[in-house]
Amino acid sequence: IVSLQQINKYYGNFHALKDISLEIAQGEVVAILGPSGSGKSTLIRCINYLEPYEQGDIYVDRIRVQPGPELIEVRKDVGMVFQSFNLFPNMTVLENITLGPIRVRGMSREQAEDRAKELLEKVGIAEQMHKYPGALSGGQQQRVGIARALANEPRVLLFDEPTSALDPEMVGEVLDVIKTLADTGVTMLLVTHEMGFARHVADRIIFMEAGQVVEEGAPELIFSKPQEPRTQAFLKSVL
Ligand code: ATP
Ligand code: MG
Repeated sequence: IVSLQQINKYYGNFHALKDISLEIAQGEVVAILGPSGSGKSTLIRCINYLEPYEQGDIYVDRIRVQPGPELIEVRKDVGMVFQSFNLFPNMTVLENITLGPIRVRGMSREQAEDRAKELLEKVGIAEQMHKYPGALSGGQQQRVGIARALANEPRVLLFDEPTSALDPEMVGEVLDVIKTLADTGVTMLLVTHEMGFARHVADRIIFMEAGQVVEEGAPELIFSKPQEPRTQAFLKSVL
């Protein structure tokens, strides 16, 4: 459902992504691991063209990701959850979630609110819907972030370190929500430093370093028998 073909991306002279090719099938959960600065965020931001890329092709649901009118379609198909939540602080939880469906999908307010309430139940914070993000804990804000991403009915969800900004006691509640989504067949690409979670939830692990995919494979393989010295060194340092 997502296809990257030999992507190269530069920030000025800096070669941030080097010939990245990657296919994600419907229902697949793929985790990206790698040291800081390896290009993980850059890679997932290219998928909905939050970052432009210079060479190669990206397709989401057979639509080419490039500037132009199709980009609206791509962005409907791709939900994104950020490390820093990125909620609108001056809107209530409910308004944060209904904004996209009303504006982008042309849903009626009533329909969007019904759907938002269902999603808030799903992520376990229905009772918070009239509050502003600032009145919520980090874990609750991130669950709103996930509900907001789901509200647009994306075909694939991208997560960029969704728990890195959270206090340790709140990490679990957010990972539980992501796990539930994974179990119900939501296609996702997840950048995370939660190794245990990646191991248990992902169908496939991708290890990146210096803008390249160094190694990929099933979690059991990558975690117990990494082939590449760079993967071995990284896992040794984080596990
Ligand atoms: P982290 O684990 O710290 O989030 P990452 O793997 O997500 O790291 P990226 O944020 O994708 O790494 O950055 C990859 C490289 O590109 C880094 O060397 C970074 O300094 C550089 N970079 C990222 N964004 C920009 C930018 N807007 N302009 C210039 N260089 C950038
Ligand atoms: Mg990053």
